[in-house]
This record gives sequence, structure tokens and C-alpha cells, in this order.
Amino acid sequence: MSEQRNETHDPATRSWVEGADGHPVFPVQNLPLGIFSTDGAGPRPGTAIGDHILDLAALAGLLPAEVRPALRQPMLNPLFALPPSARTALRKAVFRLLTDPAHRDDVAPALYQASSCAMHLPAAIGDYTDFYVGIHHATHVGRLFRPDNPLLPNYKWVPIGYHGRASSIRISGEPVRRPRGQSKAPDTETPSFGPSRRLDYELELGVWIGSGNPLGTPIPISQASAHVAGLCLLNDWSARDFQAWEYQPLGPFLAKNFHSTISPWVITADALAPFRRAQPPRPAGDPAPLDYLHDPADQARGAFAIELEVLIATAAMREQGLAPVCLSRGPATNMYWTVAQIVTHHASNGCNLNPGDLLGSGTISGPAETEFGSLLELSRGGQRPIALPTGETRCFVEDGDELTISATACADGAVPIGFGPCTARILPALA
Ligand code: MN
Repeated sequence: MSEQRNETHDPATRSWVEGADGHPVFPVQNLPLGIFSTDGAGPRPGTAIGDHILDLAALAGLLPAEVRPALRQPMLNPLFALPPSARTALRKAVFRLLTDPAHRDDVAPALYQASSCAMHLPAAIGDYTDFYVGIHHATHVGRLFRPDNPLLPNYKWVPIGYHGRASSIRISGEPVRRPRGQSKAPDTETPSFGPSRRLDYELELGVWIGSGNPLGTPIPISQASAHVAGLCLLNDWSARDFQAWEYQPLGPFLAKNFHSTISPWVITADALAPFRRAQPPRPAGDPAPLDYLHDPADQARGAFAIELEVLIATAAMREQGLAPVCLSRGPATNMYWTVAQIVTHHASNGCNLNPGDLLGSGTISGPAETEFGSLLELSRGGQRPIALPTGETRCFVEDGDELTISATACADGAVPIGFGPCTARILPALA
């Protein structure tokens, strides 16, 4: 990732776009990348500024020559394939256009009200891999099965992951159909097939891969951050009943691949520069990472000051006009492995990562109950229902529930930036 602060992070700089200054999610210091469309014009790259979207394709002529061909494409893969310096140059140019009033007449016609635009998947996702770096989540879930030995012996040595399914990744706002599948209750002899009764969410960060690596050529840890184009929010919907029955010996399959929701805006590596943090030290007695995963610069700057939260609004809550309720809230520093470490580990055997590939962090939970990133943890495996203001309770997600993940990066001396919502509502299973 680009790790340098520059003029685009200056908290004192103002934008001439109405409503951008002080915007809680998309001030001019954010400038996320996404793919949007408007009535009469198809998907194209844009950036969010306040409550508007700036059409980067329409302004390509005013932007650096090295990014122009990529800005005329309906997905961001070509932009991700460029070196990080090209995206930094794009950011600086867009920042100038939106802050210098001299450009207002040229640029204003390319602004659209965000509420009048449709968002699309930012990239054609060739491959999707989900990791398991939330050590508190791994511990809580492990404890449900192995109270005395929750973490398996490999956890602190190797970033655990599995290959997910790219085809069912959908943008925020698209409803999720409750999956049907095979499960076996503990008190039955044989499994059955039907709608999931233990549907859950997983609070995760998504990592968008930039230029990537040729097959057979690993990515050294010292270069890993240069291969990350940016981050998004990811809800890795999970059918816990299917998962418990199917996962041995090869890991998650149909419990996970029926639908995953991502936030539409790519919060770029450049935008996140002020929010980099030291990776929290490992607890005393934990092994140091093996050499190929250890880089002093990554340990010093490889974590992020991002606060994540999950909100629920049931159908009854919406009918009664009640605000969504926060289920959990916690920092992204609860990751045992850094983003750079999972990128390097993924490519360490020569596996090629491609522009627009997506990596999931795994569920990010903290040690405190208010920080649990899934209902499986919050309800203690379905044993302890959560009370809602309507008098309803939840152990798992019900039809009509709407789950929203949101996140804000905050740091001293920087303007806070948001990720925009990652939200979806549950539809009943097909009969
Ligand atoms: Mn997951």
C-alpha cells in the first residue's frame, strides 16, 4: 500500500462541492473508487465526494495520461493493474479538481447526486479467498467445540484461509435469499435438506488486490502492501447449520458460497495512509512470525485504525419506525495477521493473485462481548438470545432482518473517513 501522507490528506483543505466539508463518510480526503451508472449511461469509474459522485470517465481528459485508458472501462480491474504510483497520481489530480475553485466550471457537470446513481461491483472478481485472522473470533468459535483448547496449534504460525466463491459476491443493497441446504441436528440420526435455521453474518474487511504476481513468483512481505489497491467491507453470510455438518475434512463450502455482500466503494491505500498503525504486539509466549511473514516496516505500520460496527433492523423495527440497533462495535486492530501478511502468505507458494481479486480478513471480533463480529458468538452458539427493542429476540438472522456493517477510519491530525454501508436484507427461502 502507498504509505505516504501528502497534500491530499491535509485536514485544512476544503472542497468547493457543497456538503463535502465535514461529510462523515466522503470528505475530499477520502476519494474512494467505485463503479456507478446513471439513467442513460452505463457503468463507469467514479469517486464519492460528499453526497455526490464524480464521473471519472467523463473527466478522463483532465486526469493523468497513465490512467485514462483504465478510466474508460466499466470495471476497475485495469486501474488496479497499474502500479500504485498511477493511483496516487489519479488521487492527487482529482483532489486538485475538487478543491481548486478554478476547476469548478469544468468539473461540476460531471457531478451526480449519489442518490440518483446505481452502484455496481467495483471489479470483475476472478478469485475470492477468505482468511481467519480475527483471533478472538477463532477463539470464541473454537471454544464452542473445544472448551479447553479453542485455538488449533497451527493458528499462530500460518494465516488460515480457504478459497471462496467469487460468482456470488454482490454489492450492498442486494437482498440475500435464505439458502437451502443439508444439515444434521445433534439429536437426529440422519441429515435433512431445507432452509437454513442458523443463518449468520460475519463482520469482515475485504482487501482488493492491485497488480498481483505472475504464477510461480511469490510476493515478498516487504512488497506486499504495494499489491493492495484498497479495502472494503465484507459480510460473509454463513449458514452455521450447514457449516457444522459439511466442513470436515475440506472446510467451508455451501455454508458460505450462496451470497457474500461487499460495500461498493474501494477505500484506497492512499486514503488510508494516515490511519496506519503498528500491528499490536503478540502476547508473551506466542511465536514470532516465520521470516517470510516478518517485516519490521509492516509490524510498525501494517495495521489500521478503523472502527467497525454491525447494526440490525428487523421488519418489526422498521414498521415501528425504530432506528437500527448496534449489535457490536470494535477496532480492526483485532487482526492477528496484517493485510500484508495474508497477501504474502497467499502468494508464498507461487499462487498468482490478479488485479481485482478479493481477500476477506475473516470475522473481526474483539475480546469483549460488545465486540463480537457474528451472531454465533453473540448468542453463544444459539444458547443465549439477544433482546431487541421490539421485544423480539435473535439467536440467528430471521427473514426480513436487515444487517448493516459500517466503518470509520479515525486518527489524530486526519479528517475521519468512512467506508459507506455494507447492507442487505434477508428474503425467505424458496419453497
Ligand atoms: Mn468468513
